[in-house]
Amino acid sequence: MRKSLRGKFLLAFLTTALCSVLLTGLMINRTVDESFYEYMKKNQEDRYSKIVDSLAEYYRQYGSWDKLYISSIARSAMGSVANIRVFDEKGIVIYQSAMGHPQGMMNRRWMGRRWTGEGEDDYSTARLPIEVDGMKVGEVEIGYFGPTVLLSQDIDFKKKVNSILIVSVFLAMALATVASWIFSRKLTKPIIEIINTTSDMSRGNLKKRVTGVEGKDELGELAKSVNRLGEWVENLEDLRIQMTSDVAHELRTPLTIVLSHIEAIKDGIWEATPERLQVCYDEILRLSSLVKDIEKLSGFEKGSLKLEIEEFNLALVAGEVRDNFKILFDEKGVELIADIEEDLVLKGDKGKIKQALINLLSNALKFTDKGGTVKLEAAKKGNDIVIVVEDNGRGILQEDLPFIFERFYRGEKSRNRATGGAGIGLSITKAIIEVHHGTIEVKSEEGKGSRFEMRLPS
Ligand code: ADP
Repeated sequence: MRKSLRGKFLLAFLTTALCSVLLTGLMINRTVDESFYEYMKKNQEDRYSKIVDSLAEYYRQYGSWDKLYISSIARSAMGSVANIRVFDEKGIVIYQSAMGHPQGMMNRRWMGRRWTGEGEDDYSTARLPIEVDGMKVGEVEIGYFGPTVLLSQDIDFKKKVNSILIVSVFLAMALATVASWIFSRKLTKPIIEIINTTSDMSRGNLKKRVTGVEGKDELGELAKSVNRLGEWVENLEDLRIQMTSDVAHELRTPLTIVLSHIEAIKDGIWEATPERLQVCYDEILRLSSLVKDIEKLSGFEKGSLKLEIEEFNLALVAGEVRDNFKILFDEKGVELIADIEEDLVLKGDKGKIKQALINLLSNALKFTDKGGTVKLEAAKKGNDIVIVVEDNGRGILQEDLPFIFERFYRGEKSRNRATGGAGIGLSITKAIIEVHHGTIEVKSEEGKGSRFEMRLPS
């Protein structure tokens, strides 16, 4: 049977509340019992001395015993719960209370036992001398069941305390039930909302978001994370659809050109001139380099690409790339400023790291207009080698920024068609850096430029 989270919460709360209420009740009951017993003992001693004093006082006045007087004193001091016998100076019984023998009091045994919880209550007797001017004139014997004599008002008091305790236990339980019901509902409601949202998402409704779960607690954070995840997945899904159409487009354009040329030549419309064959050749070259890029990328992503690890000086590699690019930058009228520290020893695949650098520099050149500047910096920072490629070119739209490292993603489509890229360069760059356990980050503002920072552990 599936137990709901709410049921579990409820059970846990109730058990805890029940245990603590019962424990507190038990402890209060015990404490009250102990204090009550002390109080009763003191009361009893007072009563004993009252009987003895009254009897002594009587004897002092009259010099003999009167049964009636003894009986009235005994009843007023002990009520009818104790058995009283009075002896004269010779030890002869001169008065015996109505119950006489302990057996006569059996019906009252429950009182002492029930309230004190002391177990079997034995019949106890206390024999006290009655003295007048230092002379023993008699004795009084008081017998009762239980640890102390309980009068009806004592029993009432104890009954009251216990019924208050029982009522408070029930009240506390009722309160705990209501509180735990409300609390568990409050706790599980957002969880249920999150479950419903995520299951909707998993069924393909990627637009679904968690609503009504506010607050800064863990559940609020969870709701925000789920929503962020939803946005991310939704964007990736859009990207996947976009990517398919992009790949189709990348393939269609060169294929159409080649097909139309060959058809025209085959049908005798065109002559197979070297220029026309060159056009076909260029398009096939473009296609094959695209396929190579895709292969390269999937090689990185599957981890099946072999790396040629060696120790090399990155300063030399970066210098080489700078020199190779110099002419292209000059042609476009973009300034290239290089600031490369000497001796940047790195362990990795030299060719691949060079490729990453080329990708970043060629993008910077591609997206920076005439008159702009591109900076290439490489330096050691702590245990890392940090390479920065920064331009003051067109920059990247904020909405494109999270996706530029995705395969086939091209920012601002129409603009980039003209640049001719397939949106794969940055994916390859990122894959190269990650395979070297490094990181790559981008900061960019539209119209102001972009800054790519690669960090490689040396
Ligand atoms: P491609 O350059 O072939 O389009 P990339 O993967 O290299 O593909 O880059 C992806 C996208 O990132 C580009 O289409 C462009 O929108 C953006 N981008 C990359 N580098 C820069 C840059 N330096 N300045 C502006 N946009 C850039």
